[in-house]
Amino acid sequence: MSKLRFEVITAAFGKKAVNVPAATERPSKYYATKVFNREKMFKYLPGEVYAKLVDVIDNGAPMDISIAGAVADGMKMWAIENGATHYTHWFHPLTETTAEKHDAFIEHDGKGGVIEEFSGKLLMQQEPDASSFPNGGIRSTFEARGYSAWDPTSPAFLMDDTLCIPTVFISYTGEALDYKAPLLKSLRAIDKAATDVCRYFDKNVKKVTTYLGWEQEYFLVDEGMLLARPDLLLTGRTLMGHDSAKNQQLEDHYFGSIPERVSAFMRDLEIEAMKMGIPAKTCHNEAAPNQFELAPIYEECNLAVDHNMLIMAIMKDVARRHGFRVLLHEKPFKGVNGSGKHNNWSLGTDTGTLLMAPGKTDKDNLRFITFVVNTLAAIYRHNGLLKASIMSAANSHRLGAAEAPPAIISSFLGSHLSSVLDHLENTTDDVVRILSKRELRLNIPQIPELMIDNTDRNRTSPFAFTGNRFEFRAVGAEANCASAMIALNTAMAEQLTIFKQEVDTLIEEGQTKEDALVTVIRKYIKYSKPIRFDGNGYSQEWREEAARRGLDCEASAPLVFDRYLDPGSVRMFAKMDVMTETELRARNEIKWEMYTKKIQIEGRVIGDLALNHIIPTATKYQSSLLDNIIKMETVLGKEQGDALSVENIATVKEIAFRVSEIKRLVEVLVERRKVANRIKEEREKAIAYHDTVAPMIEEIRTHIDTLEMMVDNELWTLPKYRELLFIV
Ligand code: ADP
Ligand code: MG
Repeated sequence: MSKLRFEVITAAFGKKAVNVPAATERPSKYYATKVFNREKMFKYLPGEVYAKLVDVIDNGAPMDISIAGAVADGMKMWAIENGATHYTHWFHPLTETTAEKHDAFIEHDGKGGVIEEFSGKLLMQQEPDASSFPNGGIRSTFEARGYSAWDPTSPAFLMDDTLCIPTVFISYTGEALDYKAPLLKSLRAIDKAATDVCRYFDKNVKKVTTYLGWEQEYFLVDEGMLLARPDLLLTGRTLMGHDSAKNQQLEDHYFGSIPERVSAFMRDLEIEAMKMGIPAKTCHNEAAPNQFELAPIYEECNLAVDHNMLIMAIMKDVARRHGFRVLLHEKPFKGVNGSGKHNNWSLGTDTGTLLMAPGKTDKDNLRFITFVVNTLAAIYRHNGLLKASIMSAANSHRLGAAEAPPAIISSFLGSHLSSVLDHLENTTDDVVRILSKRELRLNIPQIPELMIDNTDRNRTSPFAFTGNRFEFRAVGAEANCASAMIALNTAMAEQLTIFKQEVDTLIEEGQTKEDALVTVIRKYIKYSKPIRFDGNGYSQEWREEAARRGLDCEASAPLVFDRYLDPGSVRMFAKMDVMTETELRARNEIKWEMYTKKIQIEGRVIGDLALNHIIPTATKYQSSLLDNIIKMETVLGKEQGDALSVENIATVKEIAFRVSEIKRLVEVLVERRKVANRIKEEREKAIAYHDTVAPMIEEIRTHIDTLEMMVDNELWTLPKYRELLFIV
């Protein structure tokens, strides 16, 4: 075995679990110790300032600039008492990571020394040197001015020695350069539209909050082994690697006990998450070997998105402490389940009602049906856009890979809810009678049925109803959840707005409120029917059926991004005041550019590895076979020697063929990259990368994976799947 491979495998085997001291206190004691939450605001802010800030956070009251100074003072005092020396505006640029620029809390004191300083102005707004963040042409680089502005609705927190202040990131001309700004706008839009609709059922509702509960899947790989795989290190996925003889067939990992090294990591991660105020609730094994999941209790959507960004960063740090690396790529291993991030999404009122949960009374159930049907209508109208919101170079490997939903958005309701909708659609009874007969009511015996349905949906539906929420399962593990949430919230806000106008019109025309509601609900049950699918989403029949139903079936990522620029999407984002056409265009430029770069890097990496790992190794093995053949001839004579070397001679020839194919294909790949690189428009370039470059990577891989099975294991330099996936 190559020396490096041998060493990293042996080292991985020998690693002991890091000792994570059992938390001496209960989680409730250390929970949120690193967060400037209400408790600390109350302690560190003057009473009046505290009250005003809470009003901003809870009720969306306008930020009163005059309190910023006092808030900054309080934050600084708390941060310094807890060991902070720096502060940063923390934001989510369009690169799917977070960005921060750390400044020390110091200013000259005018007497030759320094004092710790942090003003309201610095809290409110800053100008990061942002020329290197993608902006899709909104800011030309010589006018690289954007600013970050404080988001008081997400609490500041401590990362190591730095006070992090969640912010939006905006260009000087007002366009969003991040995910948070449009997310906040989409949350405002849905609040308004949903509150209006809620008031048909309950006049006391003043505010609707969007909730998000994400489930983060990830792989752990031993750090030493990962470092011996340049493809994993540089692209986040394996570009080559033959299937392990055993992978997930036995499904023994899913229910299996967690190895000690991993459980130490998980315990550490959970404690760190709790300190950050992330209510980590479940950690468990996933379907694939070395694949795991972390899910917190759901939270307000903006906060949940920030917490997900944070947890991805924390995971990476904690993993290193335990000699692991975290893989968040959607498809790190071919032939093994990829990783997603289920986004559980729901709406709730300030009066404590979850709008997508069935209730006890007929009125509750009419409200429940109203919100479910409007959700279906929204995702049906914008199914292509929703797919665009979760699409990326990496996630496209996972979607449709017979483990995750295909690149087609549909919704699973379960047989019970489906039959309720069918009944409502088809009944000739008048509505008030339906209600008085309580046919919409979910009584106890029917609940188990709903549970069974919920197990079904776990397999194939990208957007499943799960009892009191919808679960958007197609989101990628590495993605910023905000992308999916912006599209979903805005589509829902638009649909609720249309719904309300139609109901109001019928009421004005003399219908009762209940009749009007049911009339419009029926219309949207019919309208959204094509999006409802309870069958097997992995099947080929479904792909055909979905195309017949007119659902968006495009699978090429660069073309899927076009859906953002459909007239219906542009109109929707503008009408709901979430994004302008300029912003949408700029964002798409970035999506195409990122797509191209990802494939470009993969193309380079596989080319390098093929030429300096694979071919030399295969040739070495080939030489040893030739050596053996010659020795056989020398000892036994040419005729007999060759006769006994038939197999080896065939292998020598096959290696020669594979090697020359790999060389040829790498040349083709390089050539095609050059052609694509000359294309000026980002969209066309991304399409060229998708259509001409990406397929070469797969072709080259096929030859490499065959060689891996032929060449002497002793000589192979790269850790194999069985090692990457089974050693922890
Ligand atoms: P499963 O793996 O079956 O989908 P989990 O319990 O792992 O279920 O995850 C469920 C996730 O859904 C958790 O993050 C949970 O907090 C979240 N969740 C539960 N109820 C709601 C809700 N009403 N709105 C949003 N998220 C929710
Ligand atoms: Mg789930």
